[in-house]
Amino acid sequence: MQNFDYHKPNSVDEAVANMQASDDGKFLAGGMTMLPTMKQGLAAPEDLIDLHGIDGIAGVAEGADAIEIGAMTSHSVVASSALIQSDLPALAALAESIGDRQVRARGTLGGSISNNDPAADYPAALVALGATVKTNTREIPAEDFFVEMFETALAEDEIVTSVSFPLVEKAAYAKFPNPASRYAMVGVFVAKNADGVRVAVTGAGPSVFRASAMESALDGDFSSSALDGVAVSADDLNSDIHASPEYRAHLVGVMAKRAVDACG
Ligand SMILES: Cc1cc2nc3c(=O)[nH]c(=O)nc-3n(C[C@H](O)[C@H](O)[C@H](O)COP(=O)(O)OP(=O)(O)OC[C@H]3O[C@@H](n4cnc5c(N)ncnc54)[C@H](O)[C@@H]3O)c2cc1C
Repeated sequence: MQNFDYHKPNSVDEAVANMQASDDGKFLAGGMTMLPTMKQGLAAPEDLIDLHGIDGIAGVAEGADAIEIGAMTSHSVVASSALIQSDLPALAALAESIGDRQVRARGTLGGSISNNDPAADYPAALVALGATVKTNTREIPAEDFFVEMFETALAEDEIVTSVSFPLVEKAAYAKFPNPASRYAMVGVFVAKNADGVRVAVTGAGPSVFRASAMESALDGDFSSSALDGVAVSADDLNSDIHASPEYRAHLVGVMAKRAVDACG
């Protein structure tokens, strides 16, 4: 690991100023990805700007037909929040399925989505629920936020401050976890609302995507059998030591059916 300067700003403005003053700075949230990446020499920032001292960007709050979760909220807080468990239980269950106890205690919502790991769980929830990512400068619809593998719409000096999750009639998440890390080999989040059904897939492709053929089938008949015969193409899906594109395509169909069944 190379030397770096550590900063602990007290406000979002101070953190942005730290970043703007640096030639090569990085924000630090839970450090669950950032620190191993630095230890392995894959990142060597000159300045590490720790977001832990900033008030007002952690916690869970009830909004109008939505739940607002601060960027620095840990996965374990999301999993155990009474408000989320009662109003958006699929999101609490998703958070509980992340990694292990230590990872859930340190890892944050903001860090997870800013990293945009193709196998991360939260992106599927944000896109299926039609969430809005709030930053220090603007509001970004989830579908515009996740751009490519490990790439988001964020500018270098932009900080995610919270995410607003609209409440829906029904929602559920089903994932096939990597048995070692519990990252999603494939995860499918299904959300049903008066406007229709949204199905978002993580783990399968370079970044989260919506399964529009499944959405159309479920709009007409919200049952897992409506997905019989909806083909999932293996084109452009990820291939690694864990699974081939064809296996992932198969898992998308299986996880989507499980998620619909779990909606009840
Ligand atoms: C062993 C292990 C198992 C895991 N299993 C899973 C799993 O099953 N499912 C899953 O989804 N994830 C999993 N993760 C990922 C983990 O849960 C964290 O979400 C992830 O590591 C990043 O969150 P963090 O808060 O630690 O961010 P950090 O590592 O601190 O930061 C990650 C990146 O985001 C940037 N960043 C952080 N916060 C902000 C912000 N507010 N605004 C702008 N940029 C920001 C940082 O600069 C950095 O580039 C696992 C991680 C480990 C180590």
